[in-house]
Amino acid sequence: TKGIEFKSVDFRYGSGNQELALRNIDLWIPRGKTVALVGSSGAGKSTLADLIPRFYDPCGGQIKFDDEDLRSYDMKTVRRRMGIVSQDTFLFNNSVLYNLTYGCEWAGEAEAVDAAKRANAYEFIMNLPQGFDTEIGDRGVMLSGGQRQRLAIARAIIRDPEILILDEATSALDTLSERLVQEAIEELCHDRTTIVIAHRLSTIRNADQIVVMERGAIMEVGSHTSLLEQE
Ligand code: ADP
Ligand code: ADP
Repeated sequence: TKGIEFKSVDFRYGSGNQELALRNIDLWIPRGKTVALVGSSGAGKSTLADLIPRFYDPCGGQIKFDDEDLRSYDMKTVRRRMGIVSQDTFLFNNSVLYNLTYGCEWAGEAEAVDAAKRANAYEFIMNLPQGFDTEIGDRGVMLSGGQRQRLAIARAIIRDPEILILDEATSALDTLSERLVQEAIEELCHDRTTIVIAHRLSTIRNADQIVVMERGAIMEVGSHTSLLEQE
């Protein structure tokens, strides 16, 4: 079965007697589905998301990717199949186009990126006004916070990742823009990509699964509507 499976995963930052940042996480993320991790700040959403590209390894339990232990993979290859957008995603102090294409070159797959798809992602995500100069940056024009987030998302998406991790990736957008960007992501990636969204607020509309976290643990897993009905 294809997907990511967390089995009794514990994680703590540092080695000593620090409290667990994640405790006893059991979670099944089927391939091609969208999972939203929600919960207050410090709940463990980013930590959980960071275990998928192995920025950290669990101190207990196991993570499996397509039935194999995540640690048995060559992570350089696996990370190439991932798109990761977090709040501190690195953008070059350069033009929009440079940032978009560099992500592909780094992954060694510039030629694999379909031109039409690139244009699509670009248009949907960036929502650029008519006549927008994509060489900005070179000319010292700064992007807004929201524009930078859109650019980071577009850069991740045009590589057609198998797994897309969005960690507070739309937090600088207003509610309407955020919804439009989320809808565009769904439309561009739908069944092909496993999407993991970590978000402080539950503004996520179209996730297949909502995972509610609190103090390093999963409190509840359900569909959006079933969780809304309880509120
Ligand atoms: P969330 O993404 O839900 O806001 P985090 O995963 O960032 O939560 O944090 C979970 C817990 O781990 C918090 O108690 C936080 O203080 C702690 N934590 C996060 N990052 C680090 C780090 N780099 N070093 C030590 N503790 C950390
Ligand atoms: P914010 O970051 O303020 O939330 P958005 O990123 O949602 O704003 O962008 C709001 C509008 O302004 C969008 O139509 C966007 O294309 C446009 N915009 C943002 N930054 C620039 C810029 N540097 N030059 C021209 N238009 C921009």
